[in-house]
Amino acid sequence: MLGDKILEMLKEEIPQKEYERYIKNLSYDEKSSKADLAVYIAPNIFIANWVKNRYTQKLSHLFETHTGIKTDIKILTGKKEVIKKETKSAEPQTPSTTSTKINPPYTFENFVVGSSNQFAYTAALSVAEKPGKVYNPLFIYGGVGLGKTHLLHAIGNYNIKEKTVIYATIEQFMNDFIYHLRNHNPEGFREKYRKCDILLIDDIQFLSGKDKTQEEFFHTFNELHTEGKQIVLTSDQHPKKIAGLEERLKSRFEWGLIADIQPPELETKIAIIKKKCELNRIELDEEIINYLAANMDSNIREIEGVILKLNAYSTLVGQKITLDLAKNVLSEQKKDQQKNITLQDIVQVVASDLNVKPSEIKSKSRNRQIANARRMVIYLARTLTPNSMPALAQFFGMKDHTSVSHAMKKVKELIEKDADFKLKIEELAHKIKSNASEQS
Ligand code: ADP
Ligand code: MG
Repeated sequence: MLGDKILEMLKEEIPQKEYERYIKNLSYDEKSSKADLAVYIAPNIFIANWVKNRYTQKLSHLFETHTGIKTDIKILTGKKEVIKKETKSAEPQTPSTTSTKINPPYTFENFVVGSSNQFAYTAALSVAEKPGKVYNPLFIYGGVGLGKTHLLHAIGNYNIKEKTVIYATIEQFMNDFIYHLRNHNPEGFREKYRKCDILLIDDIQFLSGKDKTQEEFFHTFNELHTEGKQIVLTSDQHPKKIAGLEERLKSRFEWGLIADIQPPELETKIAIIKKKCELNRIELDEEIINYLAANMDSNIREIEGVILKLNAYSTLVGQKITLDLAKNVLSEQKKDQQKNITLQDIVQVVASDLNVKPSEIKSKSRNRQIANARRMVIYLARTLTPNSMPALAQFFGMKDHTSVSHAMKKVKELIEKDADFKLKIEELAHKIKSNASEQS
């Protein structure tokens, strides 16, 4: 095959070690390739990135000299596809996947406590110790990757031996409900969700707009609550702020205790990284730990991802994890993340947060609130995407880039002067990035 032949040709041009370590592991994906596109599958992300960074040009050049056609090179990791396939086949009509199992490592012992999460941690622990007796429901809310799911599972793990515990995301709850309805067995559903001792429901914000499921959840809630059974819920926002949620549910969610989780401070981030290294038996120098904590966003899931990547990479090439390697992996990660952020996503996030319409942001309205939202979108777009000022001007239908640079200046001033404004911008950036990393 041509793709393989090209690799053989590349072999002649590069050090043998490089070939053995990276190139040899690629397989040519004939199905996805075209006359002007060559697709290779790498066994993992490290090899993929390595080849992408070092050999794309060479490969492209070899193709062109061989076929006379200018060829783009794409290096994919096989893993992603495999995962996709697995999740697809794991969506059968049977409800066995509807409430996932409690994840054993998500315990209170493994949860690092700092001032950002102390309140939620303490509340969760009290509920775990005395289910149904202290706060009912317990409602935990906060941004992506800050430990909400971890705390839910911790409550589950704490009680799993003595009590009937159900953990489900609200989507699983919904799917389960629909499944039982279709099979004319709503009783089976009720038997399950209304007869447990502890009901842990994750990401309740996705109830929004789902009227039938809200109705069912309302009754589930009431029955459990009357029986003194513990209910714990999580969400990305305070119940009051969840749009499309019935008032009667909102008010019930406020009956017990509402606890928020904030992004971790630097020391907590460092402690969490150390904990993750210990649990995964990974050795990282103090210098690297500090670097990661200082240069990464507060999404712990992402930080964990980078640690695991670093470790896998160093195992793969049989080298110690160095600061340079950490810097490389981090910058790759940032680039990958940027790819997933579109201007439309930014408009969407800012619009919904500031309560204006997306179309208004792109309009020429001089209304103060809209103009403010527009400036924020411009600033976020400049800092989170590779778009140039002229490109942004075009996107907003502005005459030229001076309006963009004016908006940038204004936002920078506000960030300097106004602490609340600065916080808002950080929060929005965090949300946009989290959305993007969920997609990747
Ligand atoms: P959320 O549900 O808020 O999006 P998760 O609970 O899934 O976040 O947390 C993401 C990852 O970060 C998990 O692996 C979790 O163990 C870890 N994590 C978050 N906060 C902490 C913490 N305080 N201590 C230890 N691990 C944490
Ligand atoms: Mg979660």
